[in-house]
Amino acid sequence: MNSIDKLAELFQKFPGIGKRQARRFVYFLLHKDNGYIQQLVNEIVNVKKDINQCHECYRFYPRDAQSVCPICTNNTETKQLMIVEKDADLENIHKTKLYEGKYFVLGGFIASHEKKRSYARTEQLLARIKRDRESKIINEVIFGLSISPEAEHTRLRLYSMIHDQYPDLVFTTLGRGLSSGTELEYSDTETLKYALESRIAQN
Ligand SMILES: [Zn+2]
Repeated sequence: MNSIDKLAELFQKFPGIGKRQARRFVYFLLHKDNGYIQQLVNEIVNVKKDINQCHECYRFYPRDAQSVCPICTNNTETKQLMIVEKDADLENIHKTKLYEGKYFVLGGFIASHEKKRSYARTEQLLARIKRDRESKIINEVIFGLSISPEAEHTRLRLYSMIHDQYPDLVFTTLGRGLSSGTELEYSDTETLKYALESRIAQN
């Protein structure tokens, strides 16, 4: 295997990147000067060094002395826990300042196919809910997931798992201001406001 193949193989591990795109990245880099390459290498190393993963919500944030991120520290106004798929979704919702509860970043969807690998932090989520429930800091679980078959599958699975153990919790899902195929990450403030206000009961 030559260097082009080796690097392309690494790019292929990126989410949503196929073989052809991976090779395009390699050829792109071959056209760049050494300064750019060095900067890229440095920033890859730095991002691992400077960024922390929050022990509560699992989002990534600039490292500080705490093990819990500023959002988890500050968002204690309501007894709500919103489950989102990824960091970008959390950031987009947080930016609207319309939601003041806690978050949990799932990290992926629960695979609907047995053979597919699931990246969802299901166990961590269940542990988190158990703890928050026992300390009485949550009474509502909001499914803040995008609208897609994988998201739907994940929502139903999580709902049945959590509801089995904590039937007294209120379960809601973001309203249908979000249309099919909507990515939360790209939704504007108005849409998110409507989706939050028109939350519907999950069952
Ligand atoms: Zn956090």
